[in-house]
This record gives sequence, structure tokens and C-alpha cells, in this order.
Amino acid sequence: MVDLLLGALIERCTATIVAHENELTGLDQAIGDGDHGINMKRGFQAIRAAEAEIAAMPFGAALHKAGMTLVMSVGGASGPLYGSLLMAMGKAGETAPGDAAAVAQRLADGIEAVKRRGKSDVGAKTMLDVLVPVCDALRSSGGDPGAASAAARHAADAALEATRAMKATKGRASFLGDRSVGHLDPGARSSALLVNAVCDVVEGR
Ligand code: ADP
Ligand code: MG
Repeated sequence: MVDLLLGALIERCTATIVAHENELTGLDQAIGDGDHGINMKRGFQAIRAAEAEIAAMPFGAALHKAGMTLVMSVGGASGPLYGSLLMAMGKAGETAPGDAAAVAQRLADGIEAVKRRGKSDVGAKTMLDVLVPVCDALRSSGGDPGAASAAARHAADAALEATRAMKATKGRASFLGDRSVGHLDPGARSSALLVNAVCDVVEGR
């Protein structure tokens, strides 16, 4: 049986990435090699192409399969990194998380995998500078799902903006040194887009 939540997540995340392809590529042209929009679009379209198979799986296996799909289909660093995130989130259990604390725990597992894979941590001007504050916001948001979703959106948007002032010390942008300052990080932007897309689905928008 196809899971409606998984199907909605795949559709919304893919639509968001496709709609923002040029913006993501533009951000990567400023401090990288200009392929982040193309990479993310290719990866999410590959997930979308496998939607029937993925959405029929238990929640954990579906996340793992989606992560594998990103690893297999994306050439840039973001494929293995987002792939590691989703695979680790999938390994955290088969049933969909029931509350914000459970989402936060799953996200924390994914973040640890990104840190290992990227040999990085917060403050290096990467996707982690959005993912970690979102995880913290979910943890401290209390029990109400609406409040948790609002807190996650707010944390993602504020944390994205905070990457502008950071100097990149990981990934291609680190080659620019001080010249990476003054630009949003492309991966932080794609993470903020995906967080907002997931919140749209959770809120039933
Ligand atoms: P590439 O850098 O190979 O061209 P992309 O352009 O698709 O790959 O992705 C770049 C994004 O990946 C960066 O903006 C950053 O957010 C993220 N990134 C790059 N290296 C790392 C790392 N070591 N750890 C975490 N995130 C990283
Ligand atoms: Mg790039």
C-alpha cells in the first residue's frame, strides 16, 4: 500500500527543489562551481521517479532508499551528504516519528552521519548550519505540532541568513577563504527549502 505521507513528502520536496533550481545554482556560482541546483534537481527527480516503490516501503526503509537514490544519482558533494542524512534517518526505526521529539532524534542521527561523511561541524558554512539549529528548535519546541513546525521554519530561515556572514572552511567554498563571506551557502539554502517543504506537508498545506 502506498503511504500518503511519504508520497506527499516526495512530491513537495521535489517540487520545491525544481522551483528553486536556478536560485540554488546562482548561489553556488558565487562561492562554488555552479551545480548545486542541477545536483539537487537530478537527485530529487530520481527519488520522484522511484516514488511508487519508495512510498510503498515502511517509513524507515523509504528514507534509507531515498538516501541511496541521492548517493547513486548525484555527482556533487551534496548527493553523498544528503544521502547520508536520509540513510541514517531511515536506520533510526521503521515507523514514522509520532511527535517533534521523535523527528528531532531522527534528524540528530542524520546530522551525525553528515558530520562523519563531511568531516565537518557547525560553523563551516554548510548545510549543517541549518540542520543543527532546526534540530535544536524541534527539541525545545514543546509538545504542540503546530508550534514545532513554526519553530523549525523560523530556525531554518534565521540560520540560513546567518550563513551569509560565515567564512567557509569545508567544501568548495572554502577555496575562496575570506571571499566566501557575504554570500548565503547553497547547501544551507537547499536545507532551509526542504525543512519548509516538510513543514508544509506536516501542516497539511
Ligand atoms: P559540490 O560542492 O561538489 O559542487 P554541491 O554544489 O551540490 O556539491 O553542494 C555544495 C554544498 O554542499 C555546500 O553549499 C555545502 O552546504 C555542502 N557541503 C560541501 N562540503 C560539505 C561538508 N564537508 N560537510 C557538510 N556540507 C558540505
Ligand atoms: Mg557545487
